[in-house]
This record gives sequence, C-alpha cells and structure tokens, in this order.
Amino acid sequence: MAGDDIPGGWVALDGGTVAGTGRAGEEPEAARTLTARGALVTPGLVNTHHHIFQNLTRAYAPATGYELFDWLKALYPLWAAVDEEAVEVSTWVGLAELALGGCTTTTDMLYAHPRPRLIDAQIRAARDVGLRFHPARGALDLSEKDGGPAPAQLTESVEEILADSERLVRTYHDPAPGSMLRIALAPSTQAAVTERLMVETARLAERLDVRLHTHLAESLGEEEYCRETYRRRPVEQFEHVGWGSDRAWVAHFIFTEPWERERLGRWGTAVAHCPGSTMMLGAGAASLPALRDAGVTVGLGCDGSASTDHASLWLEARTALTAARERGGAGAATARDILRAATVDAAACLGREDGLGRLAPGAPADVVVWDLDEFAFAGAHTDPVEAWLRCGPVRPRHTLVQGHPLVEDGSLTLPHARTHDMLTTHAHHARRIQGLEDGT
Ligand SMILES: [Zn+2]
Repeated sequence: MAGDDIPGGWVALDGGTVAGTGRAGEEPEAARTLTARGALVTPGLVNTHHHIFQNLTRAYAPATGYELFDWLKALYPLWAAVDEEAVEVSTWVGLAELALGGCTTTTDMLYAHPRPRLIDAQIRAARDVGLRFHPARGALDLSEKDGGPAPAQLTESVEEILADSERLVRTYHDPAPGSMLRIALAPSTQAAVTERLMVETARLAERLDVRLHTHLAESLGEEEYCRETYRRRPVEQFEHVGWGSDRAWVAHFIFTEPWERERLGRWGTAVAHCPGSTMMLGAGAASLPALRDAGVTVGLGCDGSASTDHASLWLEARTALTAARERGGAGAATARDILRAATVDAAACLGREDGLGRLAPGAPADVVVWDLDEFAFAGAHTDPVEAWLRCGPVRPRHTLVQGHPLVEDGSLTLPHARTHDMLTTHAHHARRIQGLEDGT
C-alpha cells in the first residue's frame, strides 16, 4: 500500500465499482456523499478463514484452557445439535459483526453437518445482510470409530460430501468479476478426513474450477497423526494428495520448516494467518515475515468464533502486528504490511482477480471509513495508517459493500427490530446447544 496514500482525498463509487480516486479540490459531482473528514479510508477488509457457526458456543467455559484437539473434542458433541435455523441466525449475526469490524468480504468454513443444507441457510443470511460471501464447503468424514476426532453425527460419506459440493457450486457459484458469492471446497484438516476425500476433492475442484481450502500445519497433533498414518509430514501429505497448487489456500501453517515454506511459495499456495485464534489455543502463530520471505501470499483471518471468540478483522490485524514483532523484532512488520495482508493479499487468497482489496477504478466498491478523531487518536498526527492499527480500538464510521452502506455513522443500516430479533433467536439457540436453561 505504501506510496499510494492520498491525504485529504476522495473515492468515487458508481454502480458497485470504484469509479475513481483523487485529491482534495478535484471531487466529481455525486448524487450522494458520505463524509470522511477526520477519518482514514481503506479498502474493505477481507477475511480469509472463519467458522462462524462457532459463535453459538463462544467462550465456552468447560473447554477453556484446552489445546486444539481436546478443545475440539469438548465442542464437537455440542455442535451435533446445530440445525438449519441455528446456522442461519449464527451466520447473520456473524456477518453483521464482521461488517461492524470493517470486513466487507468473508469466507466461512462450515465443517459440521449434522443436518443437510446448512450452507444454503448461510447463503440466505449473507444475501440478507449484504456481505460479499465465499462459503467453503467444509467436511469431516473420519469419525471416532475410524480413528478420527469427530463423533459420527458430524461426519458424512465421501459420496455425500462430493455430491453436495457439486450441487452448491452449480447452484450458487458466480465466477464473474464483482461476484457477491463464490463457493470453495474445504475438507477440514488431514487429521480429521480420509486421504480419499482429499484426493477426490482436489479433482472435483479442478473440474468445477473452484478453490480449495483446509487447515495445514496447525498443531503438533496433526503432525503426529500424519507421521503415524502416512509416514509423512503434513505438507508432504498435502502434496501427495494433489493439493500443492495455486488453487489452494491453507489456514495457519505454524509448525513448519524453511523448506516447507519455500515449497508453499513455489506452488503459489496462500496462507490464512489467524494469530489471535492460534495463540488463544496455545499453538503460537506463524511468522508473517518468514512466510513472505519464502514467497508465500499471506492473508488475515479471524478463525473460529469459539477459539478466537471475536469477529473483528481490525483486532486480528492488530494482533498480527504484535505477533510479527514478537517473533521477528520491532522491524518485522509495519501497519501497512498488515493492511496489505488484510486487503490485497487476502483477496488473492480467495482467488479474486477483479481488484477486490484495492481502491482502484473498476474494483468492487467495498470501502471502509474509520473514525480517527476519537479520544484514542489524540496525539497521533504523523501517520494515519500506523495510528489506525496501533491506537484504537477503532470502529468503522461507514462500511460499504458493492457501494451499499452496511454500517453508516457507526451503526448497522439493517432494521433495528430485525437485529434485535436475530440476537434473541441466537441466544435461544446458543443456550439450547450449550445445554443451558433458555433465558430468553
Ligand atoms: Zn479454522
């Protein structure tokens, strides 16, 4: 982003795309104007990894202090109670929360399918909220009885997964520039799915020309599983099943050797970096500078709403800055490096080649206006991007997707009564799933 800041500038939008940008005094005529005085204007943030349905079991106390697989085993039985309404309302609430944090495009990997057609319910919610949505059809096919971590209610057969994946792509996937909805295929992790599912999913993605997503090198448990089961490290197995390509992006990539990072860079496989979640689960975080040095494209992601517990890409961006400096020293990353990971490079993770993540003519009109004239920014006068990330917390004054404001003057533009109803219904399902008395 360095070099293309415009102090006191403007952004013009027209019909869902950016029409132009410019300096003060050169503003074009406009039918409608939103003021950005005292604010920083950035492209909308792009979320490259999430499990939104987990907001139904947020900060779940009985799983506190567990590392990944024990944490998953504590929560999987609860997730077996997720139904279509719970998924729709959790997605609606999660997407609204993302918009309030400056996110305009998100992926989501829903891997628990105790009932059919749950991703259809997510898509209904995304259309209602108006966020740009890249649902990744998650999957688990290795149940406890076959040596996997998940109970049988959450697993499906390879045939069921592939058939539903193809149905979703044929029904909803829009590859056109400016697309509001694209489907990706996403077996959860090699430690929870069969080798056959990985191989068949890669073939299907090639045939349908859609992207591939999974977790990779996320935990030492995954490494141990791959060594014991396949006599390979997770990255070697990933290559063996045909995933090493620029069609895939992977979440985390923490427990890696230099040659593995270089291999990913050579393949063009991008990484969703989610330090808030992986540090919360005690796994630490990947080194963003080391990945970039190896030629890997790195986007940011919030990750699961029950591990990182928030859905704020701004908060994740700030965590990424401190994590990079903790690993590599004070010179390891700047706020602009992180903004790039949250916008341009995140859009590349999702395979967007239509300018998403930039404020350039012809790009999708996804824009965030961040208030920098609050108490938290008093005294920050030398660099608005550093101020944006190092001061705060900061909220968007306006969040626009496809030119439409989802947040205006700090509030959601969705009807207040609908927001209230959604939060009430969400609380009902969350308490039901957690086995609590219904407090609504
Ligand atoms: Zn994840």
